Amino acid sequence: MSNEPHEPAFPDGPPTWPVADEDVRAALEAAYADGSWGRYRGPNCERLIGALAEYHRVEHVTLCCSGTIAVELALRGLKIGADDEVLLAGYDFPGNFRAIEAVGARPALVDIDPATWCFDVERLEAAIASETRAVIVSHLHGGLVPMRRLMEIAAGRGIAVVEDACQAPGAMIDGRRAGTWGDAGVLSFGGSKLLTAGRGGAVLTRSAEVHQRIKVFAERGNDAFALSELQAAVLLPQLAKLDARNATRRERVSRLLTLLSDVAELSPVRFAAPPDEPAFYKVAWRIAASTGHEAMHAARERFVAAVQREGVAVDAGFRGFATRSEQRCRHATTLEHSERAAAATVVLHHPVLLDDATAMERVARAMRIASGAIRT
Ligand SMILES: *Cc1c(COP(=O)(O)O)cnc(C)c1O
Repeated sequence: MSNEPHEPAFPDGPPTWPVADEDVRAALEAAYADGSWGRYRGPNCERLIGALAEYHRVEHVTLCCSGTIAVELALRGLKIGADDEVLLAGYDFPGNFRAIEAVGARPALVDIDPATWCFDVERLEAAIASETRAVIVSHLHGGLVPMRRLMEIAAGRGIAVVEDACQAPGAMIDGRRAGTWGDAGVLSFGGSKLLTAGRGGAVLTRSAEVHQRIKVFAERGNDAFALSELQAAVLLPQLAKLDARNATRRERVSRLLTLLSDVAELSPVRFAAPPDEPAFYKVAWRIAASTGHEAMHAARERFVAAVQREGVAVDAGFRGFATRSEQRCRHATTLEHSERAAAATVVLHHPVLLDDATAMERVARAMRIASGAIRT
């Protein structure tokens, strides 16, 4: 089927990101007109801090230059340093592992929940060792970490929580926004992210102490990890549209999964049900192929190549950390689901979710055709 000649689903390739937005243009022009684009300190960063604090209902927001640095600043704000251990999922954003090492601490790996792709909260308690001081959890690929349960366990054991909401800005968990459950929450404004300024990030916290420690570290005589006035200016109108865009993305994902429900080779992430609301930076599937990881890698490569030929932005997921040596990171649990996720995950990039109404039909058709390449 995949070899039959046909017009690709998206002949011009995947839709680009960010989308054209007159409000962003107006923000850029206003920053030019009032000269704030060239200032160290101006009105835009202050406004963004206020808007993010209000949207998330948190007291303190620190803007910074990337999500990766935001994770590091969060760890520093929580006083994590040398001789400390920090737990994270065996399948996660690579920068989170490095952020732990950057503060001098040692990563320890915990397996993911195979249904949600996220840190398996039920394995937290048993994973804690005497040096464990913190845990980083990420809401990944539309999956959400059950934060209320996680916070209960962490509080009971005196473990600090960094909640990485870089892939889930605006998601709702038990009535609260993603990024507001942890002792510190992290957002990214990177070029591919749902809220984008090309680069950038933020740390959210309710704790004045955590906020103050981040501030002291980040100041270093000057604001060493700053977000610029111009970046803040373009983020403001995007934040105002985030809820509406997330709602559209949710509808589209739900439609797409329905269209693909009979494709046995693709099993999707189990995303949260109402009243919880996921946010989709990526939509993930695990490809079902013969059990060996090598066979899975090969099947995934064939699938990804076939979908990309259709002009659909599907890629392999994260590489994960399960293969990293115990020298470098303690394996606090078995990591079979993390290993499987690393071998078998494919992710659809979000821009197509805001494309025209026929886009999901075309994505589904492309993925269905490509799924033939998994079997061969
Ligand atoms: C994108 C991302 C980050 C940080 O990204 P930056 O590119 O450094 O802003 C952190 N965690 C996750 C899960 C991400 O997807």
